[in-house]
Amino acid sequence: MFVRVLPDQAAGRMLDYRVPRPMEASVGIGSRVRVPVRTRLLTGTVIGVMDECAFESVRDVAALLDEKPMIRPALLDLAAWIADYYCCPLEAAVRGVLPVAVRDGKVGAKTQNAARVAREIGDDELAKLEKKAPRQVDALRVLIEAGGGPMAVTLAAAKAGVSESVFRALEKNGLVAIEAMKVARNPYAERFVAGAELVLNPEQVEAMKAVETEMARPEKPILLFGVTGSGKTEIYLRAIRRAVDAGKTALVLVPEIALTPQTVERFKSRFADMQDAIAVMHSHLSEGERYDEWHKIHSGEARIVIGARSSIFAPVENPGIIIVDEEHESSYKQDEAPRYNARDLAVLRGKREGAAVLLGSATPSLESWHNAQSGKYRLVRLNQRVDDKSMPVVRVIDLRRPARNDPEGGILSRALREAIEGRMGKGEQSILFLNRRGFSTSMLCEVCGHVCECPDCSVSLTYHRAAERLVCHICGHNRRSPKVCPKCADPKIRHSGTGTQKVEEALNKIFPKARIARMDADSMTRKEAYRETLGAFKEGRLDILVGTQMIAKGLHFPNVTLVGIVNADLGLHIPDFRAGERVFQLLTQVAGRAGRGEMEGEVIVQTYTPFSPSIQFARHHDYEGFMEQEMEFRRNFGYPPFGRMAMITLRGTMRERVEFSAQTLSRKLRAAAPAQIVVGEAVPAPLEKAKTYFRFQVSLRGASSQKLSRLAREVLDALPMPEDVFVAVDIDPLHLM
Ligand code: ADP
Ligand code: ZN
Repeated sequence: MFVRVLPDQAAGRMLDYRVPRPMEASVGIGSRVRVPVRTRLLTGTVIGVMDECAFESVRDVAALLDEKPMIRPALLDLAAWIADYYCCPLEAAVRGVLPVAVRDGKVGAKTQNAARVAREIGDDELAKLEKKAPRQVDALRVLIEAGGGPMAVTLAAAKAGVSESVFRALEKNGLVAIEAMKVARNPYAERFVAGAELVLNPEQVEAMKAVETEMARPEKPILLFGVTGSGKTEIYLRAIRRAVDAGKTALVLVPEIALTPQTVERFKSRFADMQDAIAVMHSHLSEGERYDEWHKIHSGEARIVIGARSSIFAPVENPGIIIVDEEHESSYKQDEAPRYNARDLAVLRGKREGAAVLLGSATPSLESWHNAQSGKYRLVRLNQRVDDKSMPVVRVIDLRRPARNDPEGGILSRALREAIEGRMGKGEQSILFLNRRGFSTSMLCEVCGHVCECPDCSVSLTYHRAAERLVCHICGHNRRSPKVCPKCADPKIRHSGTGTQKVEEALNKIFPKARIARMDADSMTRKEAYRETLGAFKEGRLDILVGTQMIAKGLHFPNVTLVGIVNADLGLHIPDFRAGERVFQLLTQVAGRAGRGEMEGEVIVQTYTPFSPSIQFARHHDYEGFMEQEMEFRRNFGYPPFGRMAMITLRGTMRERVEFSAQTLSRKLRAAAPAQIVVGEAVPAPLEKAKTYFRFQVSLRGASSQKLSRLAREVLDALPMPEDVFVAVDIDPLHLM
């Protein structure tokens, strides 16, 4: 028996080896092996099994790493498809299919200290202890609430907001026992109470019928188009239940950002009867947790997988349904090789493995909408909110004409301030949304016009008040903010633009009594911070939440009746043909946060371009109107979904060399391209310099992505690049920066 092996690091070369007899029974496609390559031993993946080998002197496989092949044949096929379609080396695609933690095999199963209540503790005793050592009582309560434990000490400590030493103290007092347990590092190690299935409303009944028909005999993906709060998630939950009841598995993709404890809880409580059969995968897991979750899926223990982008590679067997929530989200696109789009892979995987595919969104992407219009997808609608609430009223405030005698105006218009004040008076909550972190965008000298820029990236630095620093949001470069202009030394250097920190500060000034919290990538660096802030907001311990898109998605707060969008124009004026679509989607999503409970919701949108179509259509909740006009624009210019696109980006530290290489590439592509493919000139990328690299781009347009990919591969393979110029090919790119 012989195998063809793809070593992890051998530049895509495949090598053949003989399998020693004792190994034969266990080796298969997808097995991870150690093989000799020249003088070294490398880890690789078996991608083919043969009875014979054409080569005379073939070497032996040195070791087999796992009992069971780590990559299922179906996923290996998927990897091969990805390598071809997305124009990337096969081993990069194979690596994408296996998480690092599993590939390295270094983590292993783990034991962990877990605490449990050691004996019965009466209320009197608790009260007594409360006076002496309140933190110990906090810690105890967490265990008691969890049915006495055992619970991982780290988790219990985090939940109680105490340090782990408190549990040691409790152990000394004999109140708690701590022992090492072999635990799955379940990041959501809680027990959930079962949530019942809801009685569906007539629209949901119809939608469910369509889903069940599709599940019985998969034909084409379903696009579930329903406004926020129309009950899409309820449909997902039912579909998963049907799949599981039929002995199949279910795969649910949600955007990373929406993978909140709230979302996970909702799934876990619905499937409380089979909680251990749910695996959750996202980027905040530790390597160990990722390892555990992956093996839970691989072993077949997990029947339901919920996760972000890369979960599309979850090794579930026999999936009955694959769900992609918020299918329009650009975070489904991976921004390094393999540059796949998990939504598109879901459609492909569903087709290949015979699973129904359900794509859901309140604002479907133009691509999916187009597919639904052309009959490639089945369109299913949920037109009403479940609670029958009308959509929130949206008011557009024109920032170009600030109200007279409004000295406070600027960041927060009078209308917005009054609206916030009104909510506070009624004990209701507000969310203010701004798509930009930091205190203000940039530091600008009023005398010479100098703007502080990152030395390594062609963007201005963002001022962060708390640390008095300027930070580059591309590469993280940061330095003290200057007191005088670095160029002309004038002290009239000031902050222009607005970031979340500045909004928070303005709010503090205007509403000194308000309880305000901020949620963005800067304030949420601690793992638990996100949970804590959301918890406080949910329990009504905060009046106003300020944040970036972190707060735009998937959250459900019944007491929020006002959503303010501080500057709707951010993101509109960037050189990307999808800018309008993104702003429309974002406004619609954010607006969906208002009035999800008993009370009417209101949305206030502040903008300098009140008549832009994105804002006007979003204001009238007119998705189809927006689509119609946007389709027209895309059609006229041959942009996706009417044509396909590929973007080749070259980068290097020597500007001339990068530019020259890009020009050469463009010329060669043009010479090789058939008539239907349009090759662009070599141009500096919109983000011309990033992380010390100069960047140039060449775009390809044509009717078929596959053809673009093949052309790129063919030309690039034959074109030697200077050693210090790196090439990235992005098929169906989502961001053109
Ligand atoms: P979406 O996913 O479209 O935003 P959800 O499924 O989250 O909508 O539904 C919004 C709210 O309505 C949730 O609180 C959910 O529990 C509730 N809900 C959904 N379907 C029903 C139903 N048939 N009856 C009662 N409540 C429902
Ligand atoms: Zn930078």
